[in-house]
Amino acid sequence: MFSSLHNHCTFCDGKNSAQEMIEAAVRAGFTDFGMSCHCHDERFSLSMQDEEGYIRAMRALCAAYSSKIRVYCGIEQDPMGSIRCPEAYDYVIGSVHAVRAPNGMIYSVDNNVQEMDEALRAFGGDGMELVRAYYALVTENVRKTKPDIIGHFDLILKLNKDNRYFAENTQAYRQTALEALEQCAAQGGVFEVNTGGMYRGYRDFPYLQDFLLVRLRELGARVTVSTDCHDVNGIDYGVGRALAQIRDAGFDTLAVWHDGGFVQIPLEELMH
Ligand SMILES: [Zn+2]
Ligand SMILES: [Zn+2]
Repeated sequence: MFSSLHNHCTFCDGKNSAQEMIEAAVRAGFTDFGMSCHCHDERFSLSMQDEEGYIRAMRALCAAYSSKIRVYCGIEQDPMGSIRCPEAYDYVIGSVHAVRAPNGMIYSVDNNVQEMDEALRAFGGDGMELVRAYYALVTENVRKTKPDIIGHFDLILKLNKDNRYFAENTQAYRQTALEALEQCAAQGGVFEVNTGGMYRGYRDFPYLQDFLLVRLRELGARVTVSTDCHDVNGIDYGVGRALAQIRDAGFDTLAVWHDGGFVQIPLEELMH
């Protein structure tokens, strides 16, 4: 039994149709599979444009595949975007992909280095100010919306290879991330270990970093594994590596979505 809830298809910026993604999930042996299109955001042309069409398509696929796999209709919510039909979703992933700078402009933190370079300039060249704005928004979003899953908590690291924007192995960075983590954990959602950035070659580790995972275990928080998959080839990318990272952080169990809700499954069962 294994679930995967953070996936994209052609209703947003995914490369494959929802049906192709579900077929790949069946081949990979998942028992429970959810789609989580990006909520509509007028600044982002590849966000979901046809929310009703997406919900209809997912309900039809859920029925069509019921003998092979349990299919869910979720959404990746971002505070810069909007959701028209919140009651339609089986679950919500709360994720931040952009920050608002002191000049009032919004900058993506996961688009490309050109936009991040502009963001850095808008924060007066102080990368830690950008970090603080990002984690403040993550915390505010989780507190306000209480998502089922907290998406790629430390996405701000994505384009920070070679410490391009801030020194990520410093006490200053770690303390900022830890304080946000603790406030988010207090809301009770499940954190994901997300291998999407690794699959796409940005960093060589999944979100979240080890020191955050260790703190989550101390806090008694729950974690799950997501591939944040945008094409059929990445459907189960890095799952073994993520499970090992979670075990090494001291967890005994993983939150797995089973028949419409999270259950805790021993990691040992999932790893053999
Ligand atoms: Zn995302
Ligand atoms: Zn995503």
